[in-house]
Amino acid sequence: MSTVAPILLTPGPLTTSARTRQAMMVDWGSWDDSFNQLTASLCEQLLAIVNGADSHYCVPLQGSGTFAVEAAIGTLVPRDGNVLVLINGAYGKRLAKICEVLGRRFSTFETAEDQPTTAADVERLLLADPGITHVALIHCETSTGILNPLADIADVIARHGKRLIIDAMSSFGALAVDAQKVPFDALIAASGKCLEGVPGMGFVFTRKESLAAAAGNSHSLAMDLQDQHAYMARTGQWRFTPPTHVVAALHEALLQYNEEGGLPARHRRYADNCQTLLDGMALLGIRSFLPEAIQAPIIVTFHAPKDPRYQFKAFYERVKAKGFILYPGKLTQVETFRVGCIGHVNQAEMQAAVNAVAQVLEEMEVLEI
Ligand SMILES: *Cc1c(COP(=O)(O)O)cnc(C)c1O
Repeated sequence: MSTVAPILLTPGPLTTSARTRQAMMVDWGSWDDSFNQLTASLCEQLLAIVNGADSHYCVPLQGSGTFAVEAAIGTLVPRDGNVLVLINGAYGKRLAKICEVLGRRFSTFETAEDQPTTAADVERLLLADPGITHVALIHCETSTGILNPLADIADVIARHGKRLIIDAMSSFGALAVDAQKVPFDALIAASGKCLEGVPGMGFVFTRKESLAAAAGNSHSLAMDLQDQHAYMARTGQWRFTPPTHVVAALHEALLQYNEEGGLPARHRRYADNCQTLLDGMALLGIRSFLPEAIQAPIIVTFHAPKDPRYQFKAFYERVKAKGFILYPGKLTQVETFRVGCIGHVNQAEMQAAVNAVAQVLEEMEVLEI
């Protein structure tokens, strides 16, 4: 193993600061007051980011992001609920899969991977099926980096008196969502994405009344967010063993988030990273998959070079040797690769990554882009 850790240009786990990693050098007792205060402070800071302190609870959950998504659907959708799942990529498909596994009735609406779901689509679907109780949506679909028009879609759903569940995993902390303006029952995110913590816990913002009404919905003990919240409200503690080091790291990451200037500053840095990446790759002739208008500044999908001398695995290994970890594509139709814009990285590092890509293509004698 090399002594210099590579920079992760991936959508989580991602590059964290030394300060965040340092915060994990302490062992915390789960019963201890200072750890419980850490959890409480964490939830309070997270709620502030969505402006949800009065209207919503923040319920943390052990596990990766998907655990929190599954817990949110299992807890908030009653067993006789009916979910409309909006899909334009792999994470949308995962929402449908979760509904299927949990035995919740659901229907899907799928657009192409470079096509955002529109509010008009949702309006038409809700009118066509009045039995729909909930709509589930991916905010930034990480499989391409496409941004779905959340605010417009949320308006339509609220107007029809339906409930909205948002997977905002890859956007939370960088793209603003105000709980007082965007009505939702649940918004789900995790420690190891735009907040630049380490992976290991998810959290769900739930409308207070919706969570109170959700007792008994869950098919699962460990994934029951209503019970998780009730226990935490009563005792100040996590129900089962908490990911103590992950909590401490996220708390430290949030201090840095606020020092940097909160969401506007985080958004700006990622938008600058994204622009540097797009401009640099364009100079190499590498085309991005999405038009800029629907590209979120989170992760960018690029068309792979056409040259038969290009092979992702070899390309990946050579770029890694120069200090950068890229991400494979996740599209079935076209050959692509992805580069994340998030994590503790700035424009200089993005430019260095582009330079590494340029050198590697030259080494591999990839001529036809
Ligand atoms: C990362 C991510 C998830 C969660 O994935 P895990 O592998 O379970 O952490 C869910 N949805 C989206 C949009 C994501 O980007």
